[in-house]
This record gives sequence, C-alpha cells and structure tokens, in this order.
Amino acid sequence: MKLDVMRPTHIIDINHLADGRMGRIEVSDRGLFLGALARMADVADHPDVQRSFPMIAHSLQLAASAQIRNMASLGGNVLQRTRCTYFRDVSYGNCNKRSPGSGCAALEGVNRMHAVLGASDQCIATYPGDFAQALIALQAGVEIAGPAGSQLVPFARLHRTPGSTPHIETILAEGDLISGFVIPTTPFARRSLFLKIRDRESYEFALASAAVALDLDGERIREARIALGGVATVPWRADEAEAMLQDKDASEGAFQAAAEAAFRTAEPRGHNAFKIELGKRTLVRALSEAAALNV
Ligand code: SF4
Repeated sequence: MKLDVMRPTHIIDINHLADGRMGRIEVSDRGLFLGALARMADVADHPDVQRSFPMIAHSLQLAASAQIRNMASLGGNVLQRTRCTYFRDVSYGNCNKRSPGSGCAALEGVNRMHAVLGASDQCIATYPGDFAQALIALQAGVEIAGPAGSQLVPFARLHRTPGSTPHIETILAEGDLISGFVIPTTPFARRSLFLKIRDRESYEFALASAAVALDLDGERIREARIALGGVATVPWRADEAEAMLQDKDASEGAFQAAAEAAFRTAEPRGHNAFKIELGKRTLVRALSEAAALNV
C-alpha cells in the first residue's frame, strides 16, 4: 500500500482478535499451536519453542528487523508479498502478478534475486519469507477460518506456484482468515535448524536458505525433512532430496547427493544461475550442522 501497489477500498483491523486464541502460543505433548496474531519476536523468544522446535525460533530470529519482529504477526509474515522490484515499482507496466496479462519485466530484466525453482514463463518472483520454510519442514498445518467454518490444511498446500495465474498466490478464498498454525511433535523437530544466506547479515532477504530436520539413529538417517527458501516461487519442499537421505548414513557425500537432487529441476535466468550452486552449498551445510547438533 505504501508503494501504491495495492489500493484496497476497505481495511479491517483484526488486532483485537489477539486477545483470544489467535494471539496464543501453546505447547503440549501433541505439539505447538501458534495463533496467527502471535508476534514474531514473542514466538522466537519463547523458551519452549526454542527447546522443542528450534527451527521455528531460528527462522523468526533471522527475519526482518527487531522493530518489525516486535510488531509483525505470524499470519502476516506467511502472506508477505514478493520483493520483485518490477512488482513493487508501479512505474513498470508489465507485471503479471500486479496486473494479470501485462507480461513479466523480470524475465529479460535484472533477475539476480529471482527464483530458479517453481517458476513459469509468466512469473519468476521469489517467495521472500523464512518462517514458512520451517513450517513446511516440520509438517505443520494451517488453520483457516472461513464462512463455512474452520479447517486445518497442510501448510505446504497454502502457497501456489505461479503457473499461468501469478496473481493468485494462495489457496485462501474471499472471506478466509488464517487463525493459526499447528506444528506436531515429531521425532525430527528437536534436531532442526534454519540456515539463511544473504547479501548482508541483518535485515535482508535470503539469497538461499534451508530449513532442515533430521531423525537420526546413531549415524543412520531415519527420516529427513527439507524446505528451501530464497530460490523458489513458493516455500519449497525438497521431497526428492528427503527420500534420498532415508536410511543413509549422515555423511557429506549423502548430503551432497541430496543437494543435487533438490536442484535437479532448477532453471537459471540471466543473472541468478549462482543461486543453484549457492542453494546446494547452503543445504549441505545446513544438513551437516543439523547432524552435528547435540540434542
Ligand atoms: Fe511481476 Fe512476477 Fe514478473 Fe516480478 S517476476 S515482474 S512479480 S510477473
């Protein structure tokens, strides 16, 4: 709105809903409930979240600035819009996401920050967030309240790849509201971390990020969960890479093979080919660090 990209006719203040369930952070044996209006900083600093779901805390600590983390809600965070310059600068006329059917200035433009996974010939904009990748890796669900009632949907289904309709970014319908997130207790949640690589170490979006969680039996990987950020049009689950790690020993060779699989379908554009190698290295490092955690 500040950039004149969006001109809503109505704005509804939902902050008072934070007084109820939508503002809560609840930890139980079954898992973690995070209300959509819980503040990023409150969740990141919560001792139970840090102990049992460290990746959630990491992903939030590394996002935005301290001032924004104190104010921003989780629901708003997962729905943040792309940083594509051509989307945010209304002096560019051709942006399919802002103005459907107008073209995509980024395809032949400066696209260093754009996606190498999940793109289409209509839009190559990168999903900008961090917390969403942690939710995907931890198999979270998103609670959606709508006119027909409330439903719990796998979070991985919330965002849509651009395809031929880049202006439709999520499965949310008119009248829907995200009310919270449910993160189940899993064997891999405690051995989890979020690694974010960016141009500068603070207040910057990811060039590549990896949310990884491992369930180890000694050296053997029982199960792995991987989501990638900074490189894809949506929070990206690397299920092929996860499958490659199952029942393998936790070794650099296995991690490198998984990274190759994660980027097998990557498609570089004019300026962003470096993200493929950077993304692989980020994933190998994240998996190595997760395997070495003392949990
Ligand atoms: Fe618009 Fe997407 Fe193209 Fe950016 S990449 S100019 S958001 S259509």
